Amino acid sequence: MSTPAHAERSHALLSASKAAQWINCPPSARLQEGIPDKRSEYADEGTVAHELAEIKLRRRILPCDSKERDRLDKALEEIKANKFYGPEMENAIQEYVEIVCERFMEAKARSSDAIVLLEERLDFSEWVPDGYGTGDVVLISDGVLEVIDLKYGKGVPVSAQGNPQIRLYALGAWWSHNWLYSIHEVRMTIIQPRLDNISTAIMPLDELIEWAETVVKPSAALAFAGEGEFKAGDHCRWCKVKGNCRARAEENMKALAYEFKDPALMTNEEIGSILFIAEQLQAWAKDVQDYAFEQAKAGQRVPGWKLVEGRSNRQITDKDAALAVLKAAGLEQEKYLKVDLLGISELEKRIGKKELAALIGDWIVKPPGKPVLVPETDKRPELNSIEQEFSSEDFELE
Ligand code: SF4
Repeated sequence: MSTPAHAERSHALLSASKAAQWINCPPSARLQEGIPDKRSEYADEGTVAHELAEIKLRRRILPCDSKERDRLDKALEEIKANKFYGPEMENAIQEYVEIVCERFMEAKARSSDAIVLLEERLDFSEWVPDGYGTGDVVLISDGVLEVIDLKYGKGVPVSAQGNPQIRLYALGAWWSHNWLYSIHEVRMTIIQPRLDNISTAIMPLDELIEWAETVVKPSAALAFAGEGEFKAGDHCRWCKVKGNCRARAEENMKALAYEFKDPALMTNEEIGSILFIAEQLQAWAKDVQDYAFEQAKAGQRVPGWKLVEGRSNRQITDKDAALAVLKAAGLEQEKYLKVDLLGISELEKRIGKKELAALIGDWIVKPPGKPVLVPETDKRPELNSIEQEFSSEDFELE
């Protein structure tokens, strides 16, 4: 199976996954060069999920001879032995596979000889030096090309609208396979099965190519040369130098210089603006703290700061031995043992979402959440503060 390909997907200087950064802030690419990626449990879990998805799709929609079936079955067994595999992953990936199969059927309805490509290397070096990526799924039918990207994480929903990563995959897919069919429309789909999020952006091919020529190409040339202007923004979130980047610091310091006007008390309009600034500053402050912490851990001095031992809680080193002694002492069990049901997320992970709902769904409720103050752009409906009485302890700022 393609373990290395899944795990080593985005190591190119101008990778598709970092496109929002190098398009908006071209010098960021060279500035991060050589800084190692931080492997996380989430990334490793995502790698296993992608492998599982590939096996299931190969088994389901590609012709397999007995040798290929044996190979896939063996790979599947290996995945099932992986620590990240469980009912939650099985169900989420099965949902993803069903959606991909539906899209493939739609492509076949457009042209009976529609093609599906899995884990295809997509070359967009026509616009980006050394630019290539790996597409989870590419569907090509007469007139329409669709790329599908699986995102296994359940952090934030990712939209396909205006998403440069999936646009680059679409460009690469079109560039490599345009001789197969005449394409006039590209569809770009992001599927996040654990968030029930399916986002599809549709674009005429001409528009995609115009974006590549006028936005991608010039930014990529600057980024490759290590030139262009630094520009801070939302794209800084995944930048490896976000904690010590001067351009980002200057941008945030400008925000701090917010001019307060008379009279002594601020208006609600001013408060609204400051809340946005505060959010941005909080995120930045956390990144600077993380950077300083890493520096201190590596033995680098950050003037005015030092590493100390944090608070810790007492622990029982051998719980079985302690339980045996407490039991032998004749104490009532309630005095030392608490048996409690696991949380719903953990139960779903171990038992599976659908299975858990079938077993105890009647007892799972979602009580109304505490009121939170969020930007107007948030999708949730506004609460009516006149109909509902809130006490001050009920309030949270998200
Ligand atoms: S932190 Fe932001 S502004 Fe600084 S280099 Fe990275 S992307 Fe550019």
